[in-house]
Amino acid sequence: MGVRRWVERWPLYRQLTGTDPLGRGAAAKSARSLTLTARTDTADSVARSVCPYCAVGCGQRVYVADGQVTQIEGDPDSPISRGRLCPKGAASKSLVTSPLRQTTVRYRRPYGTEWEDLDLDTAMNMIADRVLAARDETWEDRDDEGRPLNRTLGISSLGGATLDNEENYLIKKLFTAMGALQIENQARI
Ligand code: SF4
Repeated sequence: MGVRRWVERWPLYRQLTGTDPLGRGAAAKSARSLTLTARTDTADSVARSVCPYCAVGCGQRVYVADGQVTQIEGDPDSPISRGRLCPKGAASKSLVTSPLRQTTVRYRRPYGTEWEDLDLDTAMNMIADRVLAARDETWEDRDDEGRPLNRTLGISSLGGATLDNEENYLIKKLFTAMGALQIENQARI
């Protein structure tokens, strides 16, 4: 290949001399990328969603083919984000499809050295037993001067960014009803 031909294939050269000065179209394409088809073009359906990673709530389009999520992109119709996603949101397909995703309850018992799988009913019963026991052991009716407290400092809630508004609402209701004061969420920006 001659030097001139080599230079003409260079993306920056094509960007500066061609019809794509921003380098977002033809100038950025290679011979290989010209043969590829975007997963967004081959999807059977597109669902609208909201990125679960933080409180900004950027709009997403979730592309599905053969019942599987194949791509997640920013939703240009979202008034919040207008089609944009940060690197976390752009990678959120892995939240659904990663082979590393845990799909069973994992438990390491006190002094245990290995993780065990638990079925969900067993895990939920264990959590309920521990919450009730901690609440009973730490319940405070009144302070030293006899003023009513009706609280426990023995249980608390720390939510994560993948909880949505409705889940957070219910968690706050539940823990407040149980007398907990320490109710917090990581996703406050
Ligand atoms: S993690 Fe990023 S993409 Fe997701 S809502 Fe927050 S800013 Fe938007």
